[in-house]
Amino acid sequence: MRKKVIAGNWKMNMLPNEAIEYIQEFEGLVKDTKNEVILCVPYIDLFYCLNSAQGTNIKIGAQNMHWEEKGAFTGEVSAQMLKSIGVEYVILGHSERRQYFAETDETVNKKIKAAFENGLKPIVCVGETLEQRESGKTAEIITTQTRLALDGLTNDQVKNTIIAYEPIWAIGTGKTATSEDANNSIKEIRAEIEKNYGKDVADEVIIQYGGSVKSANAKELFSMSDIDGGLVGGASLKPDEFAKIVNFDK
Ligand code: PEP
Repeated sequence: MRKKVIAGNWKMNMLPNEAIEYIQEFEGLVKDTKNEVILCVPYIDLFYCLNSAQGTNIKIGAQNMHWEEKGAFTGEVSAQMLKSIGVEYVILGHSERRQYFAETDETVNKKIKAAFENGLKPIVCVGETLEQRESGKTAEIITTQTRLALDGLTNDQVKNTIIAYEPIWAIGTGKTATSEDANNSIKEIRAEIEKNYGKDVADEVIIQYGGSVKSANAKELFSMSDIDGGLVGGASLKPDEFAKIVNFDK
């Protein structure tokens, strides 16, 4: 039985003092959940969040990293650097990074490998644009992104990869995929993993849904057979709202 993993993506929001206050309030609201709770925060907040979350069930993640360990890459942060301060997760291949920062399937794949080499767990985003969806290409796009992202990983690494299916047209727009549509797309992703790595691996991989998740729709989405929780952007910025999403099954 796969557990539910619910991750917040703060994107480029929250100053350190706001982040500390958030965790002080949030911690008490989610302490009894059996679901896994992750906050993916801006680099400058990582250290403060790791300190504030110590001794709680809240895990901390970054939102990106470089695939090289060190060197002349001005402005970049490596997996080794993240791991050295205690970060556990990292979002890779978010559509905003693919769209605004020229992230490709190839760089996403390199980053996933670097994350595993350094003991970080990747949350890998895949998803189709509205145009791709309307031309009937959703399955082809998301299975290709999944195959290329996971290329060359061991079965164990694939099992430990979290995939976030995030239809791009649903991110930050208030539009959500229907629970049936989201579940079907996630089944396509799982079938692609089964084809390449076998049923045992596919059955274990956590595949989240992301795209305008809020407390009002979390229960319906996360109760579907193949949706193993969510990656939540806007609605993760308020501790009480995000806590309701984490506690969707209460
Ligand atoms: C995201 O940032 O991954 C996301 C899904 O954003 P939102 O929940 O705001 O649509």
